[in-house]
Amino acid sequence: MPTKDRVVFVTIDDGQEKDPRFVEMLRDLRVPVSMFLTDGNVRDDYGYFKPLQALGNHVQNHTLTHPVMPHLGPEGQRREICGAQKSLTREYGTAPKLFRPPFGMWGSATQEAARECGIQGIVLWTASMQIHDMQYDDPNKKLHNGDVLLAHFRGPKQLRGESMTKMFAEMLKRIRRQGFAVARLEDYISFR
Ligand SMILES: [Zn+2]
Repeated sequence: MPTKDRVVFVTIDDGQEKDPRFVEMLRDLRVPVSMFLTDGNVRDDYGYFKPLQALGNHVQNHTLTHPVMPHLGPEGQRREICGAQKSLTREYGTAPKLFRPPFGMWGSATQEAARECGIQGIVLWTASMQIHDMQYDDPNKKLHNGDVLLAHFRGPKQLRGESMTKMFAEMLKRIRRQGFAVARLEDYISFR
């Protein structure tokens, strides 16, 4: 996201982990995040994400079942995006405007399907938070203005015993150490 501000954006994907301490953490820290939710991961407890949404964080679209989009035909891709759009809108009261393709894989049919489902932009990422470390697109392993960071709603099962709050704290430490603040992605996009 091109900007002169010394900010990065934090996005959190999928949704299998629903750690109540993470809600407390965001309530305390007020760090803005964008939540790209996969309907199949959040269906068992849509309610978990509502207090996060109430803090001003937007729910965005990350498909129904997390497929590799280009492996599906146009109709299958439409079903994945429009299906998630429908249930996320029903549950969270507002239609997602952004879409993140699983594994960052997409093509022109994905773009077309997203547009038909009411999506205004596809969002990828430039750095991702692993269990303890950040993985950068930049070979110099540095953050840049407007970088989009990817993290996941993952818990001890996926993080080899580590908690989501620990992962998030580690990520913030890396962001701040490099002199960046976290801004809200949606505030930097002009939607139609
Ligand atoms: Zn994902």
